[in-house]
Amino acid sequence: LSTWANVPAGPPDPILGITEAFKADKDPRKINLGVGAYRDDQGKPYVLNAVKKAEDLIASTNPDKEYLGIIGLPEFTKNATLLAYGADSVPLKAGSVAATQTLSGTGALRIGGTFLGRFFPTAKVIYLPTPSWGNHTPIFRDSGLEVRQYRYFDKKTVGLDFAGLKEDIQNAPEGAIVLLHACAHNPTGVDPTPAQWKEISDLVKEKKLFPFFDMAYQGFASGNTTKDAFAVRYFVEQGHQIALAQSFAKNMGLYGERVGAFSLVAANPEEKARVESQLKIIVRPMYSNPPLHGARIANAILANKDLYKEWESEVELMANRIISMRDRLHDLLTSTHNTPGEWGHIKSQIGMFSFTGLTPTQTKALAEKAHIYMTADGRISMAGLNGGNINYFAESVSKAVK
Ligand code: PLP
Repeated sequence: LSTWANVPAGPPDPILGITEAFKADKDPRKINLGVGAYRDDQGKPYVLNAVKKAEDLIASTNPDKEYLGIIGLPEFTKNATLLAYGADSVPLKAGSVAATQTLSGTGALRIGGTFLGRFFPTAKVIYLPTPSWGNHTPIFRDSGLEVRQYRYFDKKTVGLDFAGLKEDIQNAPEGAIVLLHACAHNPTGVDPTPAQWKEISDLVKEKKLFPFFDMAYQGFASGNTTKDAFAVRYFVEQGHQIALAQSFAKNMGLYGERVGAFSLVAANPEEKARVESQLKIIVRPMYSNPPLHGARIANAILANKDLYKEWESEVELMANRIISMRDRLHDLLTSTHNTPGEWGHIKSQIGMFSFTGLTPTQTKALAEKAHIYMTADGRISMAGLNGGNINYFAESVSKAVK
């Protein structure tokens, strides 16, 4: 008998399964709207010019390949936290923000989750929005936290269920953790307004909850990294000791390089040092220290004025291409193809994704009849649409709905 005879087969990953079906489809019209990675108007992956130039700059210094420290490249975490918290951030200026480089956003969530699992002093319960990014539940469950839900999306309005959100946060036990998508909520594309963020901040304070921000799309929502950091900066200004997971996968297109950061606002530099010592104790037996190359790239961009400027314009370009696809798709669905139903949400939703409202039956029909692939919940990656395929997509959706 094999040692592994009793290992049950696990279910396939819902998103990577779509990519497999897409690859197997031989129809030239096929479209993959499953994966959340930016594509240019030719449907090709896009390596940012700022990234290419940063790599040239790094190569020109002929750097060594020695190990990084346990918490990574110090200049990188300094510049990454600066990007998120802003130059005026009081705890950042005071040296009270503990930080570690991580394996992209996922790694940041996991290191943060593990830290909270070990040291969070009150309810080791984390509230996630319904729905949320599919990996949140396993990440926090594996971190030793109990996962619960708060209402977020209203199917009827295809918008934010703000009343439900407030009620559920109000009813959370005092001292629980609440996960907030900082901007460009995945999968719904629905974000709170600044006024709603202010109410959420008050409520979180009143209930003594702990806000954990997942910021995987800074810059991708509005095209502007400062604008997209509004919620994070507002909460910090209001005195919340936030935790923050950052990813440079999307906004720098560094997906496979795995560049991210986890940070936590401490009361003072002495507390920050204690927290960082524990972050090191979490990282060391897991992967010892993070990879070098991507952090060097991100840091070169963040530290160099010219590269930073070029990067900012490329973030804007990516965000604007997505926004223009929203407008086109809306017009094609309504004016051109007279699709039944209300489609305003395609334009009002924010970031990489749109929650179309298509049903599992309709998404299945789209895959089988039109070779168009998306998650069963009707989420599409707007970045997968381009001048060459958007009309075929709109026409096919229209047919599926009629
Ligand atoms: N958080 C959210 C909401 C995401 O959508 C993603 C990626 O899709 C991530 C975190 C983490 O991505 P990565 O680990 O590639 O940075």
